Amino acid sequence: MSQRIQSIRGMHDVLPAENALWRTLETAAEQVFAAYGYEQIRLPIMERTGLFERGVGDTTDIVEKELYSFEDRGGESMSLRPEGTASAVRAGVEHGLLHNATQRLWYSGPMFRYERPQKGRQRQFHQFGVEAFGHIGPDVDIEQIALSARLFRVLGITGLRLEINTLGTPDERAVYRDALHAYFSERHDQLDEDSVRRLERNPLRILDSKNPNMADLIAGAPTLRDYLGEASSAHFRGLCDGISALGIDYTVNPRLVRGLDYYTRTVFEWLTDELGAQNAVCSGGRFDGLVSQLGGSDTPATGFALGIERVVALMEAQNVVLVDLAPQVYLVHVGDAAAAGVSGVAECLRDALPSLRLRVHAGGGSFKSQFKKADKSGARLALIFGDDEAADACLQIKPMNDDREQERVSIDAAPARIADLLGLAG
Ligand code: ATP
Ligand code: MG
Repeated sequence: MSQRIQSIRGMHDVLPAENALWRTLETAAEQVFAAYGYEQIRLPIMERTGLFERGVGDTTDIVEKELYSFEDRGGESMSLRPEGTASAVRAGVEHGLLHNATQRLWYSGPMFRYERPQKGRQRQFHQFGVEAFGHIGPDVDIEQIALSARLFRVLGITGLRLEINTLGTPDERAVYRDALHAYFSERHDQLDEDSVRRLERNPLRILDSKNPNMADLIAGAPTLRDYLGEASSAHFRGLCDGISALGIDYTVNPRLVRGLDYYTRTVFEWLTDELGAQNAVCSGGRFDGLVSQLGGSDTPATGFALGIERVVALMEAQNVVLVDLAPQVYLVHVGDAAAAGVSGVAECLRDALPSLRLRVHAGGGSFKSQFKKADKSGARLALIFGDDEAADACLQIKPMNDDREQERVSIDAAPARIADLLGLAG
């Protein structure tokens, strides 16, 4: 026997049973994005490696050790995208969307990071992202937090915590960085291996350490709040007041730094206690310097990305009510005349009822075996099309899960009757 080829470690299939959760999330997200005036943009999943080195930052874990990079046939270094913001900015600059204009955009799709696969951490994972360009905030920062809160509410997800922080401007951060460097250097012997590496290149990232042995040391470190100028402080006060006014609970976490270099001022994260160590389901913030850094004019921007797998896991844990994707109607047919006419009948029904989920039996078999399949499909109605019905241009409609009688209707009248029995709108 030939050998089976397996999927790549950390890259998962989503089978139809789990896909109901994905569709529920996707439907809700698209509805909520539209409700806030965000428009969809579709971006390539591969970019020049330089975009991420410059965009995400070459001292981040993502660029230092997680990029899926390779030389294409022309000898140029390409990378599968590890996140969407750099691409969104690249596209915005390239197509002139950001110059003297504001934009509210959303995207979704797979992201790739060469991380150690574990619960909540994959090498191919998926995100929804939103990015707003051209607003200095904090009104848009507040809007995006409200948007994400609404999405979780629409989905029926509860128990999430919102943490916010400010990272100030690059200048403010430079001063803070020196203070942090001094603090951690004095305690060099307490640093773990990752933190030693981060100390010289980017000591802020030490605050992001997930190592519990580092927690006390980090708790004692100076905080950026003490290094903010008046404009950044006012921005942060406005942010806090704005989310409070909307009745959204939050805590200020002065250690929240995020794993990407481009953030300025606002950062936030929605966290859960129900998924173990990988507890961030949605992370975002402001990145006022990125557009100019990638060759555009100076444009303030803010955005977030939501980890679809983690939200789906949470929906599963919380038994969120799903959109139903099972067939509503199963069309059974027996006899040669019926078999010849059944696809025409099905097409008529689909013409008349475009939202109807109709599965036509295929593969023959007895009436009884077809009915078993109808039952197993979860359909609420079975339609029966035999040679008699074919001769009379009729259908039998049989409700599956109650005692109502089977009824015979003409094919012309069938769509209205089916819509009625299923409670379909329109
Ligand atoms: P984390 O701290 O969990 O590694 P991050 O700071 O790397 O997250 P971002 O790059 O901001 O995360 O990505 C936004 C969201 O994408 C995260 O909040 C998380 O829900 C999800 N995410 C990030 N990396 C992964 C991964 N490897 N597998 C699954 N989901 C991920
Ligand atoms: Mg990460």
